Amino acid sequence: MKSLRSEIAAITLVSITLISALIMWVSLSVYEDLYENFVAKELQSLSTNLANDLLPFMNEPPGNFAMLSILLRLEEYDNVEFARVYNIQADLVSSYAGNAMLSDDSDIVHHDTMLDEVLSTLPFGLKVKNGHIQVVQQIGDPAFSQGKLVISYRIAESLSAGKRNFFVAVLPFVVALLILAVFIALELQRRSLRPLFNLITQMRQIEETQNYAVTVEIKGKTEIQALTQGFNRMMFDINKQTELNRQKNQLLTKQQEQMEQLANFDPLTGLPNRQFLMKTLSIELARAKRNESDVIVLFLDLDGFKVVNDSFGHDVGDKLLCRIADLISKTLREGDIVGRLGGDEFVVILSEAPNQAELENICQRLVDILGEPQNIEQWKLDTGVSVGVAMAKDCDYQLSILMSNADIAMYHAKRNGRGQFTLFTRMMQNDNKRIIHIASSITSAIDNDEFYLVYQPKVNHNSAIQGFEALLRWYNPYLGLVSPGEFIPIAEQSDKIAQITKWVVNQVCTDLPRIQKQYGGHVVVSLNLSASDLSDDSVTDFTLQRVAQLGDLAQFIEFEITESAYLKSFQSGNIFFEKARSLDCKIALDDFGTGYSSLSYLTEFNIDTLKIDRQFVSQIGISERSELITDTIINMAVHLKLEVCAEGVETEQQAAFLKKHGCHLLQGFYFGKPEPLNKEKTYPALQ
Ligand code: C2E
Ligand code: MG
Ligand code: MG
Repeated sequence: MKSLRSEIAAITLVSITLISALIMWVSLSVYEDLYENFVAKELQSLSTNLANDLLPFMNEPPGNFAMLSILLRLEEYDNVEFARVYNIQADLVSSYAGNAMLSDDSDIVHHDTMLDEVLSTLPFGLKVKNGHIQVVQQIGDPAFSQGKLVISYRIAESLSAGKRNFFVAVLPFVVALLILAVFIALELQRRSLRPLFNLITQMRQIEETQNYAVTVEIKGKTEIQALTQGFNRMMFDINKQTELNRQKNQLLTKQQEQMEQLANFDPLTGLPNRQFLMKTLSIELARAKRNESDVIVLFLDLDGFKVVNDSFGHDVGDKLLCRIADLISKTLREGDIVGRLGGDEFVVILSEAPNQAELENICQRLVDILGEPQNIEQWKLDTGVSVGVAMAKDCDYQLSILMSNADIAMYHAKRNGRGQFTLFTRMMQNDNKRIIHIASSITSAIDNDEFYLVYQPKVNHNSAIQGFEALLRWYNPYLGLVSPGEFIPIAEQSDKIAQITKWVVNQVCTDLPRIQKQYGGHVVVSLNLSASDLSDDSVTDFTLQRVAQLGDLAQFIEFEITESAYLKSFQSGNIFFEKARSLDCKIALDDFGTGYSSLSYLTEFNIDTLKIDRQFVSQIGISERSELITDTIINMAVHLKLEVCAEGVETEQQAAFLKKHGCHLLQGFYFGKPEPLNKEKTYPALQ
C-alpha cells in the first residue's frame, strides 16, 4: 500500500465490512434465538391445550378417534413432525405423523417401539436439539398424571428460511448503510487529512524551488497542527541556516576569488603576475615540447620609468604603468598573454609562434606604440620600451633559461640605445657570462687595488688648464682592462656602485692637493656620480664627510651627473647638491643633449656647469645642425649664467668653433688624454 490515504481507506473499508458482517451475524443469531423462543412458546401453549383436551379420553382404548381428531388439530402447523400420546403405563395410545415428517420416516414413527420406549421415558419439558424441538407435556394434574403428550417440531428448515428472508430483507439496508458509512468515513478522513496533504504539497514545492522562506497555515487536527508547527519551525531554521550558508559561501567564494586574484594577478594593472606567468609558461612549454612547436617570450622593460617615478611621483608612475599595460594588451592578438613581472617589467607569451617577419613586426609595433609620449595628468611623459625576445627551441624548452635569455636580449636592447627590440642569440649568452664575471669581480677589485684614476684636463679659451675630470680605470688579471662604459652600468645594476664611488671620492680628495700643487691652486677636479649614488645615504654621507675634510679645498671639487641620472634621483639629488653647495662644491650636468634635454628641467636643476656631449662636438665642421645645437646650448647656458664645458674635443677646428661661440671650457683628446697622476708607475693601458 503506497499512500497513507489508500491505506487508511482500505483499513476503513475492511473495518466497516467486518463490522457490518459481524452485525449481520449477530442479528441472525438473535433472530434464531427469538424464533426458537417464539416457536417454543407457541408449542408449549399448544401442547398444554392439546394435553387438556386429551385428558378426558385417556382411559379410552388406544387408537380412538376422539384422541386422533384432537391431534389432527396439529395439521395446520406445517413443521410438526409427529405427536404421540402415552398413558401412565407408557403405552402409546395415539399418534400423529405431521406434515414435516418425511414420508420414509412416517412409517417408522407409526410403528417404532424403540422410539416409543425412548419418548415415553423422556422427562417433561421442552428440548431443542439438532433442528428439532421436542415438548413432553404431562396430561392431567401432576399429582394424578394420566400420561404424556410428546410433540416433535422440526424447526431447521423454517428457521433457515426465516433467516434467509430476514437476510434478504435486511441486506439492501446493510449495503446502503455500508456504502454510506464508507463514504462518510472517507470524507471525514479526507477532511482530516487535507492539512496533512497540504503540508506534503508544500514540502514538494519547497523541494523543487529550494525556497525555504515558507510558512504553512496551521489548521487541522491537533496532531497535524503540531506537525505543521514543527514543519514551520524546521523551515524557519533551515531557511536561516541556508541564508547563513549562502552568505558564508558568498564570502568564501569572494575571498577565494580575491585570493586567486592576489595570488595570480598584479593588483595595479590587473595583469597576470609573475607566478601566473611562470605557471602558464611551464604549461605552454610542456605542450610545445610535445608538439615540437615553439613558444616565444618577449621581455619588456620600460625606458626611463624610474625617472618618471622619482620626478613625478608614484601616482603618475602607477598611472603610466596601467597605461602601458593597456597599450601592450591592445597591441597584441587575442590569445597572447601579457603579464607584469614587477616594477616596469612586462612579459608577453605569444600564443602561436609567428615566423621571423611577423615576430619582428609585433616587436616593432610594441616599440613604436610604447615609444610615443604618454599624457598622464598634466605631464607629457617621454618613455619607451626595450624588448628582449627569446624562443623555447633555443633553450630546450627550459623555463628558467628561456626567461634568462629574454632578459639578456632585453639588456642588449637597452645597451644598444633603448627603444628597440633584440632577438636572443647564443653570442649574448657569452656576453652574459662576462657580465656575471664582471659583477662578481668588482668587490675583490677594490681589495686587490685593481682600480686607479686617470685625469683628463679641461682648458679655457687660452688653453690654460682650469680643471681635470677624474675617470676610473680597472685592470683585472683575468678580464684585462675593463672600460667604465662597461663596468659602471654593471656595478649600478648589481648594487656595487656605492663601494666604487666611495673609493673614487676618497682618491680624488687625496689627489686634489697634489694636482693643485702641480697645476695651480685654481684647478677644479670633477668626479662622476651615478644615479643610485644620489639616493644612497651611505654614499652621500661619506662623500660630504670626506669633502668636508678638505676644508677650503672643497670648493675645487665638482660633481658630474648625467641628466637622466639626476632625473632618476631628483629629490635626493637636490638634497645632496644643496649640502655639497654649502661646502662650496660645484655641480656639472654631464653629457647634456643625450637624455631628456628638456629646458624645463634645466631651470629646475641646481647646477653650475653644463657639459655638452661629445656627439655634438664631434659633428662640428660636419653637421650644420649639430653646430646650431651646440651654439644654442652655449647661448642658453650663458643666459642661465651657467658655465659651459664641451666634451670630446678632438680637433683644432672643433676647438676654434667652440671658443668662437663662447664655450668656457674645453675637454678632449685634442688638449689631453686622461692620464694617471703618477706617470712613473706603469699602468696596463692608458687612453
Ligand atoms: P663621461 O663622464 O662623459 O667621461 C668622458 C668620457 O669621454 C671618458 O670616457 C673619456 O675618456 C672620453 N673622452 C674624453 N675626451 C675624448 C675625446 O676627445 N674623444 C673620445 N672619443 N672620447 C673622449 P671613459 O673614461 O671611458 O668614461 C666613460 C664614462 O664612464 C664616463 O663618461 C662616465 O660617465 C663613466 N665614468 C668614468 N669614470 C667614472 C667614475 O669614476 N664614476 C662614475 N659613476 N662613472 C664614471
Ligand atoms: Mg663625466
Ligand atoms: Mg660626459
